[in-house]
Amino acid sequence: MAMPEQQHYHGDDGWVKIGKYLDAISAHRILLVTGNRMYRASGAEQALEPVLSAREVTHLACCHTNPRVEDVTELLEQIDHKESYQAIIAVGGGSVIDTAKLMKAFWGNPLGLDEYLCCEDHRDPLPAPLPLIAMPSTAGSGSEATRFAVVYKNKEKYSVEHDALLPSFSVVVPSLLKSVPSHMAAASGMDALCQGIESYWSIHSTDESRQLAEEAIELAWNWIEQAVNDRSSEALHYMARASHLAGRAINITKTTAPHAVSYPMTAYFGITHGHAVGLLTARFLDFNQNVTEEDCLDNRGVDWVKTRLREISSKLGASETEEASDCLLAKMRNLGLATTLPALGIKTQDDVEIIIQNGFDPARVINNPRAVSESALRKTMEC
Ligand SMILES: [Zn+2]
Repeated sequence: MAMPEQQHYHGDDGWVKIGKYLDAISAHRILLVTGNRMYRASGAEQALEPVLSAREVTHLACCHTNPRVEDVTELLEQIDHKESYQAIIAVGGGSVIDTAKLMKAFWGNPLGLDEYLCCEDHRDPLPAPLPLIAMPSTAGSGSEATRFAVVYKNKEKYSVEHDALLPSFSVVVPSLLKSVPSHMAAASGMDALCQGIESYWSIHSTDESRQLAEEAIELAWNWIEQAVNDRSSEALHYMARASHLAGRAINITKTTAPHAVSYPMTAYFGITHGHAVGLLTARFLDFNQNVTEEDCLDNRGVDWVKTRLREISSKLGASETEEASDCLLAKMRNLGLATTLPALGIKTQDDVEIIIQNGFDPARVINNPRAVSESALRKTMEC
């Protein structure tokens, strides 16, 4: 499948490139979608000022992480004269970029999002032909490099997918990451690392996706502590790169079981997305390495899967696949992230059942190299 083309720029002068891009497409009337406090604190507001000052800008600051259907619908309803806009700029974390994608997807039809999610045979959204410029302010989701957007409806997670949701221009400015609060930086970094790992073991991996994922894993693994704890320019540069590459990798493969199971942990227990994904990836490293002929979902076979897991393990500094999970948990502890379920508020069997009953996104679980049954998930989720 041919992927749509995206222009990409990585560098601390990304602002200038946005100005040039807007000039090139003659965009005068702009919708600017940003986060709330971080937009100012990161320095983005100040840096974008000269780029936007001569243009007509409608600025929407979204204060919600993990957008819900009603959040997106409400934002869409706030915009008058939709036909007069020439570009959307999204500056923020994955939730902000996903919100902008969802707005683009249902631009002319705010109710369309709800309809789309209710429909069994999901009809395609009809995204507005508006260029979308995405600038991530966290190193994690890689949303600036994917054609997916996550949205929640009644605590259930949905993914809206369309080629036209891939931002036409992605601009990664590493210096934006300096002011991200530590917990958010740690959790986002884990998301990038684990998206690399999941993409690498996905049954849909290709030579291209594994090359992207491999570089993402290596960069994230080597630089995440410095990026979170010291914020050196060099470390931020590499973490921002890792996040973008992992985004490009999952744009090809999609994510797998850890992501599928993570969504109810976020929706029901308020656990930061990347934190939940990190903890689950450690558990699925153990689970996947016990793949057998009977439960292998990858057509390339058990040996293929085990070889890929060995390659992942060695990138995580483990000499044996069995140690990889411990290496990942140690990395999380270095970043100040709790590594047990009770520490994250999942304390009873009833809590675990909520995750099990809501954690089977079939589209994600079947990307996993080893089939995940309900009883297997229950074992994997032991406190
Ligand atoms: Zn993620």
